Amino acid sequence: DPHVRPSMPLFGMDIGGTLTKLVYFEPDNIDDFDQAEQQTLRTIHRYLMGSTAYGTTGIRDVHLEMTNQNICGREGKIHFIRFPTSQMPAFIDLAKYRKFSGLASGICATGGGAYMFEEVFESEVHLQLHKYDELDSLVKGIHYIDRYNLNSECYYFCNPLDPNSCEKMPFDFQDPYPYLVVNIGSGVSILSVRSKSQYSRVSGTSLGGGTFLGLCCLLTGCETFEEAIELASKGDSENIDKLVKDIYGGDYNKFGLKGDAVASSFGQMMSKEKRKSARKEDLARATLVTLTNNIGSIARMCAKTEKIERVVFVGNFLRVNTISMKLLAFAMEYWSNGSLKALFLEHEGYFGAMGCLLEYLH
Ligand code: ADP
Repeated sequence: DPHVRPSMPLFGMDIGGTLTKLVYFEPDNIDDFDQAEQQTLRTIHRYLMGSTAYGTTGIRDVHLEMTNQNICGREGKIHFIRFPTSQMPAFIDLAKYRKFSGLASGICATGGGAYMFEEVFESEVHLQLHKYDELDSLVKGIHYIDRYNLNSECYYFCNPLDPNSCEKMPFDFQDPYPYLVVNIGSGVSILSVRSKSQYSRVSGTSLGGGTFLGLCCLLTGCETFEEAIELASKGDSENIDKLVKDIYGGDYNKFGLKGDAVASSFGQMMSKEKRKSARKEDLARATLVTLTNNIGSIARMCAKTEKIERVVFVGNFLRVNTISMKLLAFAMEYWSNGSLKALFLEHEGYFGAMGCLLEYLH
């Protein structure tokens, strides 16, 4: 029964199409737990915090750690950990052999994997997964982290139209309603949030972060997201895309289209010569720009239909990806004549997992 004070530590796990996100609340003081519970807490802590917990691919985002949190009447820290969902079998093995089953309250889980792995958790680890809806959790998580992160959570890019003075600035997200959430994970979901508890999913697209990574691996032979972003940062998409000026020789004035606007993404690649001279870096950049602009333009249409001005972009597609954030900031400002604002949140991909932990408490 979730309304009985749950035992510690608390987990929220978001098992997504690409990455599993784990949010873990570590109580500061464990002396008042009974011996057996203390033992479980210490074991779990050691394995979750250790670098080898999930093969070599698990990462704790130390820079996102939140201290001085009060959850369930206890003080503690919130840790943020991620690993590829493909490593789930290794995580299940760890949980099995390290007796995570001592966790009386089970694990709160969301994302498609909560359904996919429910049975194996029960049978192998003897641990119950409490399942919660991923979008409910996402909205709850945004609300919590924005309120209780002692550092500024929300930011935007000032002067998005001028690359030389465009820079990251904190944004005061108190009283934020209504706003649009554009969650860019493997795919994309777009939510219209009207109040703390009132939201709807207004749109989505399957052309998301997974599409970027998949296409980029195919086109450049790269193997990881970090590598794809690194390549893109050194590339120029104008060698790949067909611009308005490539067709008009300049601007298309009647409808206010500048010569350097993209008329056709990847449009140069129909030429054999151009294909020969296309560099990996340029292909990676064009893939990133194509996916980002498509998401930006769907977000803009949703904002218009919903009559909403603030658009909050989240999801791990934006991890270490300033190129896309600045492009989205540019696109929102430019194509709406300054009426839309692109906002971003520091905890990017962790809101589903955070909200999932909170769902269990309320
Ligand atoms: P999901 O819940 O669908 O797994 P996420 O919000 O975790 O979605 O975002 C997954 C996307 O984030 C990937 O498709 C990729 O574009 C990007 N990404 C960022 N970092 C990584 C990483 N280390 N490994 C794989 N994909 C990553």
